[in-house]
Amino acid sequence: MCGIVGYVGEKQALEVVVSGLRRLEYRGYDSAGVAVVADGTIQTRKKAGKLANLEALLGEDPLPDSTTGIGHTRWATHGAPNDVNAHPHVSSNSRVAIIHNGIIENFAELRQELADAGVPLSSETDSEVVAHLLAAALPACGGDLPEAMRAVCRRLDGAFTLVAIDADQPDLLVGARRNSPLVVGLGEGENFLASDVAAFIAHTRRALELGQDQVVVLTRGC
Ligand code: GLU
Repeated sequence: MCGIVGYVGEKQALEVVVSGLRRLEYRGYDSAGVAVVADGTIQTRKKAGKLANLEALLGEDPLPDSTTGIGHTRWATHGAPNDVNAHPHVSSNSRVAIIHNGIIENFAELRQELADAGVPLSSETDSEVVAHLLAAALPACGGDLPEAMRAVCRRLDGAFTLVAIDADQPDLLVGARRNSPLVVGLGEGENFLASDVAAFIAHTRRALELGQDQVVVLTRGC
């Protein structure tokens, strides 16, 4: 099993996310990665192996300050456990980053559709398609990330927990799930998403499980 953490609030997102991933280490994983929204861009760091490898990379090549971020520990199902296949995955237009737990069963046809449309795929994962599909859906949804997430989820077969961030909407976290857990943590001026409440219990005890096929939208305040 693997882990997901998302944060939006007033603290440094990276610190919250990495400490959350640390609390999910017991679940097992083969690689780890983080993404933050900063200055209208998404920036990621990803590394195969233990969380300590990612932390070493972050020490050598720090991420900018940010109060919105996501993190993932991966248990590879599609594609080798290497740096490129580690999550988060970013859309080819650099607007959206996603993390995913589970398996997208119809990923092959979705990859083919994207390839036919000229979208470059950079990993071997089933997950990466979601980033590109979200970016493609956004214009038709008026730039509304939750609406784009709903539209994309309708196209996915399989089990998934997904969390997405958008370079153009820096104080926004969007999550979705089907047959895979996602817990929402409600704090004061900050909110959390995680695959397990252990990831954010140090910050808030107000938690609820997202319902099947639901999409959740979190900002700092709600
Ligand atoms: N199927 C995805 C992958 O192989 C996600 C695996 C996971 O749940 O960590 O990258």
